Amino acid sequence: MSRLENKVALITGGNSGIGLATAKLFVAQGAKVVITGRRQEALDTAVKEIGGDVIAVLADVKDIGAGTRAIEQTVEQFGHIDILFLNAGIAGFMPIAEMTEEFFDEQFDTNVKGPFFMIKSALPYLSEGAVIIGNTSIVSQKGFPGSGVYSATKAAMRSLSRVLTNELQAKKIRAVSVAPGPIDTPIYGKMGMSEAELQGMSQGFAQQVPLGRFGTSEELAQTVLFLASDEASFITGVELEVDGGLSQV
Ligand code: NAP
Repeated sequence: MSRLENKVALITGGNSGIGLATAKLFVAQGAKVVITGRRQEALDTAVKEIGGDVIAVLADVKDIGAGTRAIEQTVEQFGHIDILFLNAGIAGFMPIAEMTEEFFDEQFDTNVKGPFFMIKSALPYLSEGAVIIGNTSIVSQKGFPGSGVYSATKAAMRSLSRVLTNELQAKKIRAVSVAPGPIDTPIYGKMGMSEAELQGMSQGFAQQVPLGRFGTSEELAQTVLFLASDEASFITGVELEVDGGLSQV
């Protein structure tokens, strides 16, 4: 039996990496899925790759109006929202001594402000028993040099889900987060690092992971599926690390 039969899911950043893998799995499990992203071409390609019951909405997550319109289009198409996966995000590393206001704002607008207001816009349309899933990161537990702003954005979202767990009790809405460790996705190619820097960082991460490797988008997607499904009906407020043990050692 399909685990998300008749569920409606909105996945931000669904054209790449973890979001794309999750969209594929959700559709395979019977969900109706809306993906968002900031590049029309990438969205069109993703829709073809996902197949089945999926539509794409062009929406830059930093644009609060666009986020609201994505919610409205989801509701026009499918009536309500059962699963809101706030996955879109960027990762930037910069030591505090070199920090600029522009870098800071870009990270916070993308990883915190956009998702925050998307939740606000979605509230009237979230079904009873719906689930809001944040995609945070284990960086906020580790203190990696250069991760000051990025890890602060993820810590903010982790805190927000605790508040939502209490604030949204009336509609029995669950608020949870997945916290990936190093996962092999295109995000590393978007950080503005040289090939040598990327390789150094990748090797460093992999060596620290008890399971000795990067995770895959599919492994993340399976965890998101579990948290989204009725199998996790008594789980709320948690952040679940999917990191080969990195945050625990
Ligand atoms: P990814 O392949 O780069 O996917 C990120 C998605 O977010 C892409 O679809 C991207 O669009 C979209 N996005 C970024 N900025 C956006 C914006 N302003 N408006 C709309 N969409 C935007 O990377 P990923 O690794 O799957 O990342 C997904 C989430 O996992 C992120 O929140 C990230 O922080 C978190 N995470 C990842 C790792 C990891 O090791 N991979 C570890 C911890 C946490 P484009 O394709 O146009 O860039």
